[in-house]
Amino acid sequence: MTLPVAIGIDIGGTNLKIALVDGGGRIIAKRARPLDAARGPGSALAEAGDLVGRLLAEAGLKRGDAVGAGVGSPGPLDLRTGVIIRSVNLPGWRNVRIQASLADRLGLPVVLDNDANAAAYGEFWVGAGREGGDLVMLTLGTGVGAGVILDGCVLHGHFDNAAELGHMIVVVDGLPCPCGQRGCLEQYASASAVSRRVEAAIRGGEESRLGATVKKGEGIDARVVAEEAAAGDELCLRIWNEACTYLAIACVNIQHAYNPGIIVLGGGMSEAGSFLIDRVDEQLRRRTWSLCEDLPTVKRADLAYDAGVIGAAGLAWRRSRSIGQ
Ligand SMILES: [Zn+2]
Repeated sequence: MTLPVAIGIDIGGTNLKIALVDGGGRIIAKRARPLDAARGPGSALAEAGDLVGRLLAEAGLKRGDAVGAGVGSPGPLDLRTGVIIRSVNLPGWRNVRIQASLADRLGLPVVLDNDANAAAYGEFWVGAGREGGDLVMLTLGTGVGAGVILDGCVLHGHFDNAAELGHMIVVVDGLPCPCGQRGCLEQYASASAVSRRVEAAIRGGEESRLGATVKKGEGIDARVVAEEAAAGDELCLRIWNEACTYLAIACVNIQHAYNPGIIVLGGGMSEAGSFLIDRVDEQLRRRTWSLCEDLPTVKRADLAYDAGVIGAAGLAWRRSRSIGQ
């Protein structure tokens, strides 16, 4: 059976994920491998080429059955030249010509985009935003990734770095961020920030049911914080609610900047489901202006950890259709 597919490639700090995706956004086959970024881009590109070949063979497909490949990568990127300029998640990767290298290796057209943009495009295409309309996605993981889809297009901006909404300042002179600013959203409302803030409060002497775990030096994550908050732990509930407040403030600002129909929340924190979504949505409605009743709907992401590969493949599909391939 031959079936046209697009190849979605998601380059993460620790994982390389690849999927074959049909024109309706369904995954035909996928594979993930640990990525040792320290071994350099050459080894990762070879691995990607190898995985694509295997997936196509396993699916009974030839290279010609693929319309192209999409790559979601941490940035900043130069989309004009298809280059990863650098990334805190990919130490040592500088000015990597990923688009041209992969196109040579695969013998296919390759489209490159930021990983959070690719995830947002996946949710827009076949996920929480599939009913249509403009969409903003925040991925609440190690940091806060973001993507803005307006009129069916990923918003890139003049310097290709639009929608870095995790670095929207929500606290004047707040916590320092590795980006060089202070008070960035992702220092308060990422999955890592929530667990980090609970740990810091416990080390500072505050009481919590997670106290013994933290004092033993065992790590905690946002899922545990959400569970303890829901069970009534006061410290966890305070930090969780503060994160929801900062997210709601971000959503109000996003509403005014882009006026989307949907704001999708994904990543580790979104596993808390309505314990996150309802709190952010309620505060968005309470904190926003009163001049207009049309407000974006806050939704949980639908595609979980596949959003990146599906979205990257979706961008390849979009490119192939726009050039009539
Ligand atoms: Zn920042």
